Amino acid sequence: MGAGLAGALLACLLGKAGHEVAVYERRPDPREKGFLGGRSINLALSARGIHALSLAGLAERVLNEAISMRGRMIHSVAGRLSFQPYSTNPRDAINSVSRGGLNEALLKKASGYAGVRYYFEHRCVGVDLERPAVTLSAAENRTVDADVVIGCDGAFSAVRGEMQRLDRFDCAHTYLEHGYKELTIPPAADGGFAMEPHALHIWPRGGFMMIALPNRDRSFTCTLFWPFAGPRSFEAVRSADDILRFFGVHFPDALALMPALAEEYLRNPIASLVTVRCAPWFHRDRVVLVGDAAHAIVPFYGQGMNAAFEDCVVLAESLDLFPHDRQVALQRYYGLRKTDADAIGDLAIANFLEMRDRVASPLFRLRKKSERVLHRLLPRWYTPLYNMVSFSRIPYAQARRRATQQRRIVVAILTVLLLLAVIGVVWLFLVLIAKST
Ligand SMILES: Cc1cc2nc3c(=O)[nH]c(=O)nc-3n(C[C@H](O)[C@H](O)[C@H](O)COP(=O)(O)OP(=O)(O)OC[C@H]3O[C@@H](n4cnc5c(N)ncnc54)[C@H](O)[C@@H]3O)c2cc1C
Repeated sequence: MGAGLAGALLACLLGKAGHEVAVYERRPDPREKGFLGGRSINLALSARGIHALSLAGLAERVLNEAISMRGRMIHSVAGRLSFQPYSTNPRDAINSVSRGGLNEALLKKASGYAGVRYYFEHRCVGVDLERPAVTLSAAENRTVDADVVIGCDGAFSAVRGEMQRLDRFDCAHTYLEHGYKELTIPPAADGGFAMEPHALHIWPRGGFMMIALPNRDRSFTCTLFWPFAGPRSFEAVRSADDILRFFGVHFPDALALMPALAEEYLRNPIASLVTVRCAPWFHRDRVVLVGDAAHAIVPFYGQGMNAAFEDCVVLAESLDLFPHDRQVALQRYYGLRKTDADAIGDLAIANFLEMRDRVASPLFRLRKKSERVLHRLLPRWYTPLYNMVSFSRIPYAQARRRATQQRRIVVAILTVLLLLAVIGVVWLFLVLIAKST
């Protein structure tokens, strides 16, 4: 169910392995009718996603169309810019890709496998978890049987909805009090980018922020993260005058680059930010959840799609390893992915606080700088958490554990150094007193 990013990649991997795959998607075929919306216009693709795409034979093509971002560009209220590189290694970058373009490339690739068939404008409206079978609402409702139903139908998954009726199925949806709205910075008058293209731009403003990622047409897609309610919120800013005034005060440099801000603001929807945690992700040997359907996370680490792609790789690999015992395959997939999905879910929420509040502070910049120095001096021993998450395939939970250990060791070393310094000063002081008496 679902021909979004995870569904389309999984269709490639399963099609390549020789499985028969029927993909049902509620939206029209983007290859014919263009990509109709989605959860964001562009996305940051990093090491995990690139690896998955390479297994589908698409990494090189997708990266050729991507724009690399080597660090964060922080915009102060006064319009001052400061660039914070993500890594000491100049090759480490995250990549801005078009969601629609990537989805289409995956759909086209999967359609090349004999076993893959698509059914667009088919919405899943019910799942019989035991048979298993799905009921689809299209021109007329129909029910189709399957060996296994794979729910790749996103954060508000209909397949997961059916599993929630099962005894002892855990499920929690947690919403941030912030929502988001997408806006655009068009190309400059000379047709070029209006800002540095090889960076992820951030306007951190405490309780709210805006970010911008570059597009190939030389525009930027901005995402404004803002509380739904309260004195400074989507609820409070409703008219064109309000939004122009608000941007004039908080994002003046961006305002100068956004000629259609008021119209876009009034036209574009506000979307919510949800974290979904559920368990287990499978039912017997018959139904399994993948990507956002299993573990939607907030977008602040740029890892939702990357994690969904890792799911696809592990699921395809598990089905391959246990061709005659699908339940063991599904159990292995869940066992390998659940802890990591929980870890990146937590890290994504923590990164929201970092991006909106801390990136602008001198202490944060000092910490990031010392992390980079340690990484350069002791690359085998010290790797910053961001690098492990974005530029390696170290499992998320392991990366988080390793980062905690590294932090403890650094604190211990600093404490010892501080103690030695204090002892040294006291000793010097005593020597000076002894000499003078
Ligand atoms: C603002 C924002 C920015 C983001 N930025 C990044 C980023 O930079 N990097 C990153 O890695 N991740 C990012 N993400 C996360 C990423 O978008 C998701 O993790 C990713 O799309 C998950 O893929 P998916 O296929 O599981 O779900 P989706 O992409 O949501 O696809 C689900 C598909 O299922 C279909 N569907 C839904 N219900 C039904 C139904 N009942 N019947 C049939 N079909 C159905 C939908 O139409 C859709 O095509 C971001 C998310 C948001 C909200």
